[in-house]
Amino acid sequence: MSGRTGKSGAQAGAGDLLELVRSGRATTRGALQQATGLSRATVGLRLDRLFRAGWLREGAGGPVDSPLGGRPSITLEFDDAHAVVLAADLDTRHARAAVLSLTGEILAEHGGTLVIEDGPDAVLGELGRWFAELLGKAGHLAHEVCGIGLAVPGPVDSDTGRVVQPPIMPGWDGYDIRARLGRAFAEHAHGPADVPVLVDNDANLMAYGEQRTGHPDCSAFVLVKVSTGIGAGVVVGGRIYRGVDGGAGDIGHIRVPEGADALCRCGSYGCLAAVASGGAVARRLAGAGVPAASGSDVRDLLTAGHPEAAALAREAGRRVGDVLATVVTLLNPGVLMIAGDLAGTPFLTGVRELLYQRALPRSTAHLDVVTSRLGERAALVGAGALVVEHLYAPERVEERLLALGV
Ligand SMILES: [Zn+2]
Repeated sequence: MSGRTGKSGAQAGAGDLLELVRSGRATTRGALQQATGLSRATVGLRLDRLFRAGWLREGAGGPVDSPLGGRPSITLEFDDAHAVVLAADLDTRHARAAVLSLTGEILAEHGGTLVIEDGPDAVLGELGRWFAELLGKAGHLAHEVCGIGLAVPGPVDSDTGRVVQPPIMPGWDGYDIRARLGRAFAEHAHGPADVPVLVDNDANLMAYGEQRTGHPDCSAFVLVKVSTGIGAGVVVGGRIYRGVDGGAGDIGHIRVPEGADALCRCGSYGCLAAVASGGAVARRLAGAGVPAASGSDVRDLLTAGHPEAAALAREAGRRVGDVLATVVTLLNPGVLMIAGDLAGTPFLTGVRELLYQRALPRSTAHLDVVTSRLGERAALVGAGALVVEHLYAPERVEERLLALGV
């Protein structure tokens, strides 16, 4: 049991009980008493508040035998019908948005052209319109939205929700994304402008979404996204590892020896992204007379089995694999997931070739190198989960219950 929910006696609050139920560690009154050391009456009082808020319900499964013996107990479960989450994932020229249930089910979804270079005011305003339409499609009202999660293709200061010197997001540096998205939500969906908005890097949120849904027992999980740029998300102990300044995982701008004369979008020469990203492969293909301008063009060529695209993707995989050998040696993850436009057999083959050659055998003995399971939805699922984990965290529950008047 973690220290946070391991409080005993009068210390364990409604938020701690909710956490125990949501995580499945204690799902009956008896089990909650045992886990917290609270009396039956106190557990009852705290659960009553959660019932009145609509956050908990009695399970459909019926009574189960109590671990303490005696009467069978009713199981408790998180009531995921009392609110919904909005999420969006911005790529450089395309975006996806969705309404999600509190347990991560996508209730309505939309993907379309949205050009990040048009700047934050235009892009976030349009997202507000998408959110309004999606809520209508899902049959939910704006006041049911408990929060918004947004994935962006750049480094994010998660305390302020602002992007920090993003190489591929001109005009977004330091912009107040939370306030603008809240305004757009109020304007188009008629929701409260002060709705909580959480912003994070797309690779972080993809890693979070994939780890939680597909690899919940993996305590060290790394996802590498290779599309127009290259980024990585790290989930350690079930939490996104962001580093001190939110810069963890930004492996696209590591210098590689082969790239000395390759100009990167960040303005430097020799970055990994300048020689091994979807954008870099597209440039090589275009130079050879194959029409390709972006990572998604390369993906289309790979899907069609284009031999030159496959050869270049494998070579890009080897270059990324060389850098990943260091990543794997440092973090010793259980899963290394390759996602994004280039994530296919040729790229993966290249990654494996160099990774197993360069990394220490002990760091790769129990390593699974896999491709994405959620595909284009990974960041949406991760963004939704981030909002839910934030809003229902024990330290935030008390304040929110008081605001609801229970
Ligand atoms: Zn760079």
